[in-house]
Amino acid sequence: MTSPDFGAGSAADLPDYAPIPRSALGPALNEQGYYVGRVERNLYWVTDGTYQAAFLATRDGVVLFDAPPTIGGNLRRAVDEIAAANGVTNQVTHLVYSHHHDDHSGAASLFGGDIVRIGHDETRRLLLRDNSPARPAPEITFADRYTLQVGGERVELAWHGPNHSPDNIYIHFPDHDTLMFIDIVNAGWVPIYNTNLSDDVPGYMAAPAIALSYPWTHFISGHLGRLATRDDVAVHQAYIADIEASAKEALATVNPVPYFIKGGENAWAGVSGYLDEVTERTAAPIIAKYTGVLAAADIEIFTRTTSFAIMQSLRLDRGPSAPVHP
Ligand SMILES: [Zn+2]
Repeated sequence: MTSPDFGAGSAADLPDYAPIPRSALGPALNEQGYYVGRVERNLYWVTDGTYQAAFLATRDGVVLFDAPPTIGGNLRRAVDEIAAANGVTNQVTHLVYSHHHDDHSGAASLFGGDIVRIGHDETRRLLLRDNSPARPAPEITFADRYTLQVGGERVELAWHGPNHSPDNIYIHFPDHDTLMFIDIVNAGWVPIYNTNLSDDVPGYMAAPAIALSYPWTHFISGHLGRLATRDDVAVHQAYIADIEASAKEALATVNPVPYFIKGGENAWAGVSGYLDEVTERTAAPIIAKYTGVLAAADIEIFTRTTSFAIMQSLRLDRGPSAPVHP
């Protein structure tokens, strides 16, 4: 059997990046490859080191929040383990979708057809569009707010506009001092490509302030191995604010005209030369400043692509993109 050829690159070519600080990592995983921990009272979180989900173990049933496929069957094991230890039912009765993306919900169908699924109106529309049997569309949907009450527990779901995705919601546990809000802040780590693969850049940039407007101590961010704190959100905000300031300066400093003159009739050559230079000037000081502060800041393409996305949003969403021709 020959191994598939994926081209010139291979895992062996992965550069030696800076070591990840212990503070960016979470608790050790068990033999099955997961960790389940109490957030507060009967609210628990589960991680495989890269993804996170949560559940409430109530007297009337378990309410699951997201079902990442990488955790998959370990969600069932985590629920069983906690239910047995606390003498409560392990029956999953409800599933809340944070948003429609498969990487946070692709194990939803493991919990059977009888459970109540809840999500934003847009989550339902997008899951029906994507027609994936792994992620049945929610039957209970809402536009702005929904209060979920199960087994004497209360969870406040809210939508405050598009950000990472059109349907990404804030999941507040007022009686557990916790906010779950997925794919915006990676606690202790930089966002991955393009503002953490976000659709709406102004919405992505504004979302952490909305998250901080809620009262909470514990933050379930959906990614990596530990819970987040309010300080983690503040460091993320500083990183994004620094990129915004750097992009503004680069846009004000780099003169596009020489690039377009050099490009001649190839207008796209001028565009590429100019925008690549603005991106490089935006990203370079941020990469230098945050290497050693946020894990993986030395994977330069993450900050470069996020810088590009924010710089484009400054031009296209906020404007002006160019002086008006006289
Ligand atoms: Zn997502």
